[in-house]
Amino acid sequence: MLSLLPIRDQLGVRPGRLFIGGRWLDWSYDRFDQVHPATNEVMTHLAEAGPRGVDLAVAAARQAFDEGPWPHMRAQDRKRMLQPIVERIRAAEEEIAKLQTLDNGIPYTFSRNARVSPKAAADIFDHFLGWIDKLGGDTLPVFSSASNMQYMTFRDPVGVVAAILPWNGPVMTFAMKVAPALACGCTVVVKPSELANLAVLRLAQIIAESDLPPGVFNIVTGGAETGTALSSHPGVDKVTFTGSPVVGEKIMVASAPTMKRLSLELGGKSAALVFPDTRSVEATAHSLMGLCSTFLSGQVCSTPTRAVVHRSIMDEFLHHAAEQVKKVRFGDPFDPATTSAPIISRRQQARILGYIESGRQEGADLRFGGGTPGGDLAHGNWIHPALFANVRNDMRIAQEEIFGPVLSVIPFETEEEAIRIANDSAFGLAGCVYTTDVSRAFRVSRAIRSGSIGVNGFASVPNAPFGGVKRSGLGREGGWATVEAFTELKAINFNLDA
Ligand code: NAD
Repeated sequence: MLSLLPIRDQLGVRPGRLFIGGRWLDWSYDRFDQVHPATNEVMTHLAEAGPRGVDLAVAAARQAFDEGPWPHMRAQDRKRMLQPIVERIRAAEEEIAKLQTLDNGIPYTFSRNARVSPKAAADIFDHFLGWIDKLGGDTLPVFSSASNMQYMTFRDPVGVVAAILPWNGPVMTFAMKVAPALACGCTVVVKPSELANLAVLRLAQIIAESDLPPGVFNIVTGGAETGTALSSHPGVDKVTFTGSPVVGEKIMVASAPTMKRLSLELGGKSAALVFPDTRSVEATAHSLMGLCSTFLSGQVCSTPTRAVVHRSIMDEFLHHAAEQVKKVRFGDPFDPATTSAPIISRRQQARILGYIESGRQEGADLRFGGGTPGGDLAHGNWIHPALFANVRNDMRIAQEEIFGPVLSVIPFETEEEAIRIANDSAFGLAGCVYTTDVSRAFRVSRAIRSGSIGVNGFASVPNAPFGGVKRSGLGREGGWATVEAFTELKAINFNLDA
């Protein structure tokens, strides 16, 4: 039977510690287990920082921000101090990728090479370090003869940042939050998901070994209680959060009394609109079914989980989607033949199976999948990728984020109808348009209400904005948009008549 304990031991996984104020702390208070989703074996135990650990970490970050050199450091000095982190992540890519696979079961090939890889994290650090000596403001023209005021603007670091991470892309989301925070001169307290700590703790070790002043970077581990303590802490100026809309709402409420700045990257129910003139129905069906069935098995916020397909190509699309699923392989996430991740927890597995049942009961046509494998695989949280045809957009499987290997296929006749279906959603994170008609690609992309749209494919990169409208969140991550989100614009005017 599959066991991941040998590779865990080979990687030297140890019980987790907290990094606060420039020191690693063994935590003798509460602890919790991290369990692997492919086998349900305990990987290690970690510190539950709770309010006590959060107080210590925020105090250290506060002191480093209010009294330390970090926010005022010369651009070149700050850049030099952070630069080695990029190379150290690159040097540890293989180890970090293995730890990420031990965290959440993502097949190692994807953990090593895909957009959630340590390589992508190093690229994200590299990108944001490039902004350090470009964090400029404006010098404005004197407005009128009524007053002789010369205005200048500056970008100040936003302050102490709480970075709360999800389990599904821990390495990439760590980089997407920590790199801009440090580049902009903020201090930071990171909290990884209770389900995925190992790779993030290794990244934390790399940062701990750099020359950052104590308290600039801190990490606390723990679950909802620790997250709540951190996101409501009066010493925190900004929360940057990636996770579910339900927790996003709680964070908004908890942030209100002190008006914390917020970046919220939340869930999605993105639509892929497939027109009859798509370059290849086969390639499109393989791509969309593949996003739901391989990699993280549909447990990705931007996955287009609604395929809105023109009726004239529906049968062909369904045929090729079924062919794609034959390539799916479950099992040892370190075996290169394994294509797909297990579902992150037993609880989430049961939730997904509940959605599949609701699709059946609401009258959608389950073409394949939806069951759980037996034998040795029964020890892990697997679900056979499912495809529902003849879905109506008002069904729960079309409206709610399932976060699992389920593709809902919705037919359409006209372009207007396709756009209306795409926009009839509480979410607005991403989406795709598949067509070879440039005018249509432009029209439809502009008409869909979402943070981003891919024409004939989708990929996120560090220098482009990513984020959502509606219940998919607030703000954007990537490029200049992030710099704005981690800085406060300050205006200073000089009275030229004084
Ligand atoms: P989650 O909301 O359950 O947990 C995310 C983090 O919030 C964890 O660290 C958790 O410990 C913490 N948390 C839990 N309760 C909290 C509270 N009350 N206050 C503060 N923190 C709290 O999400 P998850 O299951 O880890 O991730 C899946 C979700 O994340 C999906 O909805 C997915 O769409 C979304 N996601 C979005 C993006 C994006 O970029 N938009 C990327 C990845 C994942």
